[in-house]
Amino acid sequence: MIKSFPLARSQYKIFKHEGVEVIYNIEFPYYTRSLPLLKELLSFRLINNKSQLNELKSNYGEKKVQNAMNWLVKKNFFKGSNEKDYNEITTSDREYDQNIHTIVLSISHDCNLACSYCYADRGRYGGQKGFCSFHTAKATVDFLFENSGEHEKLKFFFFGGEPLLNFSLVQKVVPYIRKKEREYGKHVRIGFTTNATILTKKIIDFCNDNDIYIHVSIDGPKHIHDINRPFPNKIGSFDLIKKNLQYLFETRPKGVSSRATFTHGNIHLIKSIQSILEMGFASVYIGPASGLHESSIRQEDLGTVMNQYNSLMQMYIEKKKNNERFPVNPLDLKVKQCNRRRLKARLYGCGAGRGYVAVTKDGDIFPCKKCIESGYFRLGDIYDGISEEMHKYFLTNIVTKPTKECSSCWVRFLCGGSCIMRPLEYGVMDIDKSYNFLCEITKYIYKLAMIINIKLEEMHMATLWPRFKLERDLTRIPEEEFSKNWKYNLIHIY
Ligand code: SF4
Ligand code: SF4
Repeated sequence: MIKSFPLARSQYKIFKHEGVEVIYNIEFPYYTRSLPLLKELLSFRLINNKSQLNELKSNYGEKKVQNAMNWLVKKNFFKGSNEKDYNEITTSDREYDQNIHTIVLSISHDCNLACSYCYADRGRYGGQKGFCSFHTAKATVDFLFENSGEHEKLKFFFFGGEPLLNFSLVQKVVPYIRKKEREYGKHVRIGFTTNATILTKKIIDFCNDNDIYIHVSIDGPKHIHDINRPFPNKIGSFDLIKKNLQYLFETRPKGVSSRATFTHGNIHLIKSIQSILEMGFASVYIGPASGLHESSIRQEDLGTVMNQYNSLMQMYIEKKKNNERFPVNPLDLKVKQCNRRRLKARLYGCGAGRGYVAVTKDGDIFPCKKCIESGYFRLGDIYDGISEEMHKYFLTNIVTKPTKECSSCWVRFLCGGSCIMRPLEYGVMDIDKSYNFLCEITKYIYKLAMIINIKLEEMHMATLWPRFKLERDLTRIPEEEFSKNWKYNLIHIY
């Protein structure tokens, strides 16, 4: 008598939304519209369950069952659990690399607005207001080039507070960066994010002449923007920035990108997005206000946020049907990330401390600008460099150590893990109930992104997504492609 063995299955999730049921391979990211045959095969508990198999063969035909099984094997649904690998990969420091490609330099620890959700204490990061000197900025540029290793394409961003309060520094630093570019034979993308309140024609001309990227913070129609982003005297900033942006739009044929924030009590994603795009922006990234501010998104807002995202999904599909862009992020980014031709596992949530660092006005180095206020994870300074000990501690214990929640989360290989500063924003040490609703938003957007891809593929949006038909795919996989292990599974299930 043949002994029964448990079938080695990878973790998978089945979810249904808007009439589309999806099977998603959690550990080796891949997904498809669910089919009854696939679900039945995935429900097998034992690898030699002859009676269950015979029943399937008589219902679907032997060829179809075999092909479906082959397809599941090819897409790693029977590769076993990757859980051990996940922890091993993500806690290893074998990738240790001190080289950097991106620096964000705070040139103004001061701001002229008083946004309701500001995480940076109006640019002061819990300290004194002040500006970065040319001496520090120049040394930061040197630090970037000297530590860029093999990286050919570098990035240098100015931030604050409001960086344009110290625009005279930008005017001096940019020519210095361009000089270093020639010396090293590398290219630097220079940019900044501004509230646009002091964006003059002179500044715009300088940026246009020097190929400087400008990203604008704006929260949408006047009545929303003015509540979220007033001056300290409570007067809204919308009218002023609208006037200032006119010349920017006229002189930037490739378009201008924007960043919007939605807050508790002001969850009007659709209105904000429509208003921002109608103003003339080429794209918008919209995210929730987070942390322990009064205006931060809370658990009770989740339903409203999800409803709005659902409408965004419908709008996205309509636009794509007409072959138009829908440059709304993070939705568009996640749709592209979930395009099945490109799908690959992500092991990190962001690049903080891994090639990307933030530098304060005094030259202290942190893994990210959000760390500055807390003072946590100071890695060194631009004069003495990054401390290898501190950097390794940060990479091994903070960046690569999966949180308890992430280790068991179904989108862990798409999301890559939380923003490292999020627990500190909420005064906790791990993702827990105090803010896991933000993760619910992330998971929901991934669901929508998969459904958008499936719907567009099925509408034969061949120009954007390669036409994909599961039935066709199932009949085209040559068995020789499978590795020995996969064959082992196949041999034993039949
Ligand atoms: S959604 Fe949240 S719990 Fe899931 S992997 Fe991302 S950060 Fe971790
Ligand atoms: S996700 Fe968080 S830690 Fe990473 S870069 Fe953004 S703010 Fe910094």
